[in-house]
Parts: sequence; C-alpha cells; structure tokens
Amino acid sequence: MRKDARHSGTVDPAKSCVQDAQQRPSHPLRPLTARKPFAPLFLPPTVLYPLLRSLEQILKQLLPPACLLCGIKLNALPGPPYLCPECARACVNQPIAACAICAEPFRSASVISHWCGQCTTSPPPFVWLKAIGLHAEQLQYAVHQLKYANQFQLAEALALLLLSRLRSDIVAFNPQNIIPVPLHPKRLCLRGFNQSLLVARHLGTKLDIPVSTRHLIRTRPTSSQTKLNLAQRHQNILGAFSIDVPLPPRRILLVDDVVTTTATCRECAKVLSHAGHQVAVVALSRASLQH
Ligand SMILES: [Zn+2]
Ligand SMILES: [Zn+2]
Repeated sequence: MRKDARHSGTVDPAKSCVQDAQQRPSHPLRPLTARKPFAPLFLPPTVLYPLLRSLEQILKQLLPPACLLCGIKLNALPGPPYLCPECARACVNQPIAACAICAEPFRSASVISHWCGQCTTSPPPFVWLKAIGLHAEQLQYAVHQLKYANQFQLAEALALLLLSRLRSDIVAFNPQNIIPVPLHPKRLCLRGFNQSLLVARHLGTKLDIPVSTRHLIRTRPTSSQTKLNLAQRHQNILGAFSIDVPLPPRRILLVDDVVTTTATCRECAKVLSHAGHQVAVVALSRASLQH
C-alpha cells in the first residue's frame, strides 16, 4: 500500500507549498510586472552625464544661488557655504576681549585675556568653550532661522563657519567623539529636530569624528532659560542630563547652539566628566546676560 507522503515525513516542503498554492483560489491582486526604468537611464553614461551637466548649468543660470541670510545672488555654484562674503564676515564678529575659558564677552578692552568672574570662582568642568561669534546681527538671525524657521541648510553653513574659525582649536583638542546638547523627548517632538545635532552631524562628517546621540540624554524637561537670571538658570538645569549608553573615557566635543550663562554646558560637561570624559565646547553663538 502506498503511504501518504505528507504523513510519512518524507514530503518535500517546497513541493508541498507549490501544491497548496495551486489549490488556492486565484489571487485578486494584479500580477507583478517588471517596472520600466526611467527613460534617461537607457542612455549610455557617455551621453547621459554630459546631458545632466548641461542641464545643471542651465538651471544654475536660471536659478542662481542666493545668500541664505541677505538673499543677494551668489556667483558661486550652488552648495555650501550658502552665505555671501559680507554675511559670513559679519557672523564671525568677535568681542574686543573675552574670558579665556568660557568666551564670556567683556565690556572693557583694558585687559585682553583673563578669566571671567564665574570661571574664577567656579571653574567649569570643560577645558574651553568657543563660539563662531557674538549672538548679534547676522549670526543671531542665522541661528534663529535654523531654530525657528526650519532653514536646515544653515546647519551646514554654520558648521563651515565654525570650522573656518575654530578648526585649529578643535584639532589641537583632538576630540574622539562629538556630542550635541540633547533636547528632552517632549521638546524634540514639539520642534521636530535638534538644531545642535544637525550642526554636530556636519562637523562629524567634515572632521571624520563619530557623533554620539545615545550617550548623553536629557532626562528631565526644563522650562525656557531665556527669562531666568544666572542662579535660576543653574538651578533650572540641575540634574537634567544623565548618561544612557556608556562610552569608555574619551575627549568629547560638546556642541551647543547659543551659550549665554554656560549653565547648560556646565551641567552636560559635569555629567560627562563624572563618566571619565574630557570635554571642550563649541557653540554657534555666544550671548551674555550683561549685554
Ligand atoms: Zn548675505
Ligand atoms: Zn569664563
């Protein structure tokens, strides 16, 4: 007597599936057909690439690039840095004198380089803090356009400006990781992006340094710092950050957007230094409560 192959344990599973499929009613979906590739892809590269280059040149003539800040037409081809020379120069505006550690701008130029009162009485847990320039005029406008007007191209433009001014300091510090100041998940949901992370990613790409986003996290939502004084800002941010995924001790470049009292950077750097890291801070712009 012939044994039923299904019950004998010797059935070929592939053949069984084919048989089951043949017994099922026909599928209501239309059969799959090979999609036709985009027509120009049929052209050989020797024809296609010159054609695309010609098309690009025509578009550049019709739509010349404009400065992201003042809108003036740029002679350069589309691409970074997206800023006209005048706006770029205005963004890197520097105070006459500033704190050698935290870049707090001084009102007086009588002493060129010394520590500010805060760094003297309470040395920060970072090696140094530097910014592209003062939080004013074009740089302030650029940061606001990035944060509040979703001008994401400015993240790369500002990263390039930051490198043009601070590359030698960063290279001397020789960071092994870049970490942006994190937003709390609630703030991230409301804004949709972390502006410091956008800049950090461009810095990481241009410096070939990994960007870590899961090491330092913000565990407590904080109210806006803008209307708080120095003591209130430190109290507001206290205990807001912690380490999530540990890293071995590293030299870390912390990236922030606007630094005013250094309260946020100090708190981040405190958590990172407790985890064994050495921290330097770069910011897009440097404000001051005194100005
Ligand atoms: Zn401009
Ligand atoms: Zn200082």
